[in-house]
Amino acid sequence: MEEIRSVAAEERQLNFLEEIVENDLAVGKHNSILTRFPPEPNGYLHIGHAKSICLNFGLAKKYGGKTNLRFDDTNPTKEDVEYVDSIKEDVKWLGFNWVSEFYASDYFEQLYEWAKDLIRKNLAYVDDQTQEEIRINRGTVTRPGIASPWREREVEENIDLFERMRRGEFKDGAKVLRAKIDMSHSNMLMRDPILYRIIHAYHHRTGDKWCIYPMYDYAHGQSDSIEKITHSICTLEFDVHRPLYDWFIEKLNIFPSRQYEFARLNLTYTVMSKRKLLELVKSGFVAGWDDPRMPTICGLRKRGYTPESIRLFADKVGVAKRDNIIDLSLLEWCVREDLNKRSNRYMTVINPVKLTISNYPKDKVEIFNAPVNQENPDAGTREIPFSRELYIEREDFMEEPPKKYFRLRPGGEVRLKYSYIIKCEEIIKDNDGNITEIVCSYDPQSRPGTGEWRSVKGTIHWVSVPHAAETELRLFDRLFTEADMDSIPQDKSYTDFLNPNSLVITTGYSEPAVAKDVSNIAVQFERNGYFVKDSDSNDNKLVFNKTVGLKSNWTQS
Ligand code: ATP
Ligand code: MG
Repeated sequence: MEEIRSVAAEERQLNFLEEIVENDLAVGKHNSILTRFPPEPNGYLHIGHAKSICLNFGLAKKYGGKTNLRFDDTNPTKEDVEYVDSIKEDVKWLGFNWVSEFYASDYFEQLYEWAKDLIRKNLAYVDDQTQEEIRINRGTVTRPGIASPWREREVEENIDLFERMRRGEFKDGAKVLRAKIDMSHSNMLMRDPILYRIIHAYHHRTGDKWCIYPMYDYAHGQSDSIEKITHSICTLEFDVHRPLYDWFIEKLNIFPSRQYEFARLNLTYTVMSKRKLLELVKSGFVAGWDDPRMPTICGLRKRGYTPESIRLFADKVGVAKRDNIIDLSLLEWCVREDLNKRSNRYMTVINPVKLTISNYPKDKVEIFNAPVNQENPDAGTREIPFSRELYIEREDFMEEPPKKYFRLRPGGEVRLKYSYIIKCEEIIKDNDGNITEIVCSYDPQSRPGTGEWRSVKGTIHWVSVPHAAETELRLFDRLFTEADMDSIPQDKSYTDFLNPNSLVITTGYSEPAVAKDVSNIAVQFERNGYFVKDSDSNDNKLVFNKTVGLKSNWTQS
């Protein structure tokens, strides 16, 4: 993995945020740092948020600082406590602890007072124009804006109107509060941005107390300042917001938090916008926010990803200043890396064909012992029953194999993993020519641990039919067929690129030890990949979700 090695090499140097923090601490600008993770509770967290979480918490941890969790809950119509709860669960699951939990809505009163300060300083005014008029009069990049006819309202009148806005005297959209900055500013966001709009809506925390709500730009920086956040880290698209962020801090003369931007995480074959993810859930394209094909943290968890693997991924991705797109195979590499060390091994046959050993006694059962994890001797051993009737993978037999096919063929020999060498004697087919059974003989001298070790080229896995545990296997593939989902043609919808084969459900057979596994992380089905037990499993039924194959089976385009 060339690409992964080079990312790792770069990483040994400080990233640009670490450089800034080290410098700030060295010159005494701050004695300690305070970062925040500021999700809007309008959806479940995804792998992009995980990147931001690892960055904010990781940076503070590295430099002995702290991190707040702040819900940016300024948009009552889209937010919900369901999301608040899931966000907290996901941050904790990733392994991070916040020092304080805050809500932007806790600051509504203070933000309101500060808005009145701005009015008194003649730096804000109530505008009666419609949304549409405001939009048109803002001008364009090449044409300056046109001042609102209400821009020169007297301070007293503005205070009065703003108080009445708060009291609920006006309808939604009738008036807004705007900052008075510069209608011909080269940065469109500085052309008298809206600070407050009227929304008569119930808020999940403040109830019906408010009917005016602050805009993101007005709330975010001031919330940082109230909490005395030293380094406010956000994604690149907010760099044009920074002058406004600084303008409020300067005009209000409050704690000087500083904003820094890094490139958001984009992944191939993935959409990450919460709006789109919500649509996928609502329209039933996926089973829910935690569908294992979703890039959400709860989806990845249900898929068998571990917190360790996601933190490793965030590390490998690093911190970039320019937008890029990361290959999904890097995420998969990270989970393999972690599971390879820790996961228990079992044999499960996914696509079974029956194999009978003609010279093995009918009612005999032998027990073979095998390590639970070859990578970790402490994991102990498991018992695998062996009998005359077995399942093997259909793909492990070929009637007319190509050269270098070392698995089972007519007249050929293979070793059954942990067990005997067998030889194919006969194939039984149905009327359509499909193979229904393979008849073999076994070599009693080839039992591991007895006599002389005879080696054959191929080893295949197997499960004893009378001992097999029926196992529902949910095999996932990438949710979209297009690598760069941000560059799909304008006349297409992202849903046009949904992969129709992203979920295949099949029934396989597992060795009995699988049912008794209590490791609580994904296991390895030998030669097949990593799988995690789904909560749909019960005493009578095993259900496993495929996390990832053992090797990358996608050629990189
Ligand atoms: P979306 O656009 O999908 O709704 P968002 O950015 O509005 O996402 P927020 O809840 O506002 O979602 O995000 C919380 C924090 O996570 C922000 O600081 C944001 O910059 C960061 N974040 C969101 N998406 C990504 C991403 N893809 N990569 C890195 N950080 C991200
Ligand atoms: Mg946002």
